[in-house]
Amino acid sequence: MNLTSPSVIAGLCDEFGFKFKKKFGQNFLINPEIPKKIATSSVGDSRPCACIEIGPGAGSLTVELASLYDKVTAFEIDEQLIPVLEKTLAEHSNVTVINSDILEVDLKKYIEENFDGYSVTVCANLPYYITTPIVMQLFESGARLDRIVVMMQKEVAQRLVAKAGSTDYGAITPTVQYYAKTTRLFDVAPGNFMPRPDVTSTVVCFDIHKEKPVTPISEEYLSRTIKGAFALRRKTLQNSLATEFGGLSKSELAECIEEAGISPSARGETLDLKQLSRLSDVLYNKIH
Ligand code: SAM
Repeated sequence: MNLTSPSVIAGLCDEFGFKFKKKFGQNFLINPEIPKKIATSSVGDSRPCACIEIGPGAGSLTVELASLYDKVTAFEIDEQLIPVLEKTLAEHSNVTVINSDILEVDLKKYIEENFDGYSVTVCANLPYYITTPIVMQLFESGARLDRIVVMMQKEVAQRLVAKAGSTDYGAITPTVQYYAKTTRLFDVAPGNFMPRPDVTSTVVCFDIHKEKPVTPISEEYLSRTIKGAFALRRKTLQNSLATEFGGLSKSELAECIEEAGISPSARGETLDLKQLSRLSDVLYNKIH
């Protein structure tokens, strides 16, 4: 069954009474080359290997993953798609489908219990309405992952790889840099989806750092420092940081900025991960 054929998808919709739901970000791939390319670029050399897919839809990417990985688990929020997937994945005994919201899943526990000894990758054509929360959950869950290869809106991908100080650079950029090396792989035009989205998509690869690029005293303080530094764009760093570290006076914040070796006139959105980490250590020491 060609799961990227619009007529096959339409046939499945009729058979199972399935209707596309905008609220779940359902845009299915209709070009067979794309799921192949995404799956191939996600798989590494380590064996045995397992893949977590988020949002299998009708299963077009899932079947490609099933042919490359030893085990695949796909989490799908839409219960209406579960009987569809039972049919389309019937021949793939190495695939498990779980009807669940990925944001509710304890991925760390799931991987420990099901993929012990496996190299683990996450692969997905992400639902765009929750791209950033999903990516952040994958990193912050503490789950043992080697790589994440996901498709997202092009503009989000641009933010993830932006240089410090550029207009695309946001709090998410250094946050993600802390966890992984991010590479843009390729763009996918709107005509490759059904229904057709308004925007171009980009497939992004995150290679998870084995060793973090910085070692802050406290991850919580690094996260608060990033949040504070980006809170008020185009305002001074001191004013912006005050939104997150209100317990410190303006002059104490100015001292911390100076002690971290950062110019007092610098703006938060120009700081790179190393500077943010240094500043978070100074703030930590000031408060403790
Ligand atoms: N993988 C399919 C493809 O490429 O054709 C479908 C991709 S579609 C962009 C996103 C999929 O994610 C849909 O199947 C949608 O129902 C599912 N989804 C949306 N929100 C989700 C969530 N919170 N947890 C799990 N799946 C979700």
